[in-house]
Amino acid sequence: MTASDTTRLGILTSGGDAPGMNAAVRAVVRAALDQGMDVYAIYEGYQGMVDGGDRIRKMSWNAVGGIMQRGGTVIGTARCATFRTRAGRLQAARNLLQHEIDRLIVIGGDGSLTGADLFRREWPGLLAELVERGEVSQAVAARHPQLMIVGLVGSIDNDMAGTDMTIGADTALHRITQAVDAISSTAASHQRTFVIEVMGRNCGYLALMGALATGADWVLIPECPPDTDDWHDRMCQMLRAGRQAGRRDSIVIVAEGARDRQGNPISSEYVRQMLEERLGEDARVTILGHVQRGGAPSAFDRTMSTLLGYAAVEELASATPDSEPLLIGMRNNRITRAPLMRCVEQSRAVADAIAAHDYDRAIELRGGSFREAYEALRTLVRTLPRPYGAGQQQLRLAVLHAGGPAPGMNTAVRAAVRLGLDRGHTMLGVQNGFQGLIDGDIRALDWMSVSGWASMGGAELGTSRKVPGGSDLYAIARTIEAQHIQGLFIIGGWSGYQAAHRLYRERDNFPAFNIPIICLPASINNNLPGSELSIGADTALNNIVEVIDKIKQSAVATRRCFVVEVMGRMCGYLALMSSLATGAERVYLPEEGIMLRDLEADLSHLVDGFQQGKRLGLMIRNEQASAVYTTEFISALFEEEGKDLFEVRQAILGHLQQGGDPSPFDRIQATRLAARCVDFLTAEAGKTSSAGAFIGLQAGHVKFSSLEDLPRMVDEAHQRPKEQWWMELRPIARVLAQPAPRSGQEHDRPQATENART
Ligand code: ATP
Ligand code: MG
Repeated sequence: MTASDTTRLGILTSGGDAPGMNAAVRAVVRAALDQGMDVYAIYEGYQGMVDGGDRIRKMSWNAVGGIMQRGGTVIGTARCATFRTRAGRLQAARNLLQHEIDRLIVIGGDGSLTGADLFRREWPGLLAELVERGEVSQAVAARHPQLMIVGLVGSIDNDMAGTDMTIGADTALHRITQAVDAISSTAASHQRTFVIEVMGRNCGYLALMGALATGADWVLIPECPPDTDDWHDRMCQMLRAGRQAGRRDSIVIVAEGARDRQGNPISSEYVRQMLEERLGEDARVTILGHVQRGGAPSAFDRTMSTLLGYAAVEELASATPDSEPLLIGMRNNRITRAPLMRCVEQSRAVADAIAAHDYDRAIELRGGSFREAYEALRTLVRTLPRPYGAGQQQLRLAVLHAGGPAPGMNTAVRAAVRLGLDRGHTMLGVQNGFQGLIDGDIRALDWMSVSGWASMGGAELGTSRKVPGGSDLYAIARTIEAQHIQGLFIIGGWSGYQAAHRLYRERDNFPAFNIPIICLPASINNNLPGSELSIGADTALNNIVEVIDKIKQSAVATRRCFVVEVMGRMCGYLALMSSLATGAERVYLPEEGIMLRDLEADLSHLVDGFQQGKRLGLMIRNEQASAVYTTEFISALFEEEGKDLFEVRQAILGHLQQGGDPSPFDRIQATRLAARCVDFLTAEAGKTSSAGAFIGLQAGHVKFSSLEDLPRMVDEAHQRPKEQWWMELRPIARVLAQPAPRSGQEHDRPQATENART
């Protein structure tokens, strides 16, 4: 093959670094090699492109091994003034053509992507000049008449249109929630007020979601300045009332770009002074700063970036000189493509609107879920419920859990209780799931009884897998009548859905069951119908990924293969996603089962790999992938056959997967879904035939499905939904994990079009 036949692709990271960039680089390199392209890393962003030389390096399959768990970007990033000049870009074009690179994947913010677009537009002119100067031959120039580019957004701020999440934003939220949780505990010990400043010059995303996830008491963001000039008084009143109601700490989160209606900056120090003066108590400022950028990427940032990188290569592989430059992002839980510059312009429009004090437009441009989150937060931070409006229907609503514990259950209860109280309802907490409903173990929950629950793992109300049957149903009917329960809110997993369906079906026999019933998906297994994601799964995934990082580190010195067993029951979601996020070379799923010939093939791959110098192997097995080929069996088999070449260890992760404080994503979604469930119960109560439903996230939107349809939507025998969107990601995991393809080896090439939040 001559140089001209092989497609050559360059990848660079530019602007501020963001956790997850490495996963994107790894995916780009491996997907490109898989497609038969040559791939070059351009080190130090545009600076490396201008400098050329060894800053532009051809990448191999193994060169990107073991980088996914690292923060920042291993290929470096920079801000480069020279690239802003035409002379700089001329030099950059020459350096790319030396390697005959005419396709670029740029991972950066709005600036980097604008630079890439300008470079692309100038390309023909730059080439003509280089030919004229004799620096590039006519033939080379003729072979690369156009530069083809694809952009991915790397930025912790989540400030770009065209993608719901930018690479790094989820990890930054993790850092913020960890820090705020930690500060809350010390603040509570001393009854102090803390003002916490988070990043975000023109974008309040991190501040708003951070506040929602941690149960902070007040938030100041650029898009929504306080709506009155006496906001100081209102804020102090609220904090004071909180103290009187029994709160021990007060947390105010300030985005670095916060401002008032007139556009005057509101600094964290200003807020601190104001609080100290008016409240007469100790107030401290913590500026989180670069901590937010640092550290290992979250599971989501690893998987999303991997899917984005894969899709970017797919796009460039089929690009032609007149293809429009695209931005690859994730919208509504699917990988999407949008015109690059339209996205950049839309993002800038928000900044422009803020600068022009047109805040209504700014928040409108941010989209519906941003506003939804802001409205929910405004209610949740109130110390005490609003006084009841005249004519408002006041209901008695019961909240309970069912199924295994899932991080985020408490968060959902807190939101349900406060939003319910805010509407004038009485909120009843049922202890220990359906057993509590049978026994009448119920107490009213007031506003402060759920204080601090936003960030708490476990399930304070208790949960059980009890699915009521027989005489239980009479007992439940009695409790419902005795307690005058007018709506049932079940936050839980598989057995909760079964129980709800049973009550729903028995409505003719038990008139008491003729009340609205709603289920909110909370299960680490992500095995519930009607929702692409269930609450708790993201936390479990992060738990798994963190432990696997440690397991991998423990093996630096020896040649070792780990067989890691993860939970999920008959659903392979956790296994597949953790394999994508850790770069495991093999994943065993219950959906596929395990065959002896699979194990033989995997073993021979392992032997090959270790013979070629590989030092670490990682296989992930779902706990019920096979009844016969257990984790122990597979480990023993590999150990025996690995002989002196490698040793094998098994790691059964167990219950640590269910524990821990909920991740920011689980907290935010739990809050969002709980709010909608309270709306549902409020709207349905009192109708002659009450509805039973389960809520969920489908393609990024909140959807309700009728309990009527439950049997149709599930595979009862395997206790999982019939349709599982993430199954289509399997081939991508396979492509990226297998060792460098040798020539002549063919395998199916998956499409990345319909991928998702992982
Ligand atoms: P972030 O703001 O998230 O940190 P960014 O990509 O917006 O990331 P910038 O500093 O704006 O960061 O841009 C990074 C680099 O991209 C610049 O140093 C410069 O080399 C190049 N660049 C930015 N804007 C342009 C432009 N208009 N023309 C040419 N190059 C540009
Ligand atoms: Mg920028």
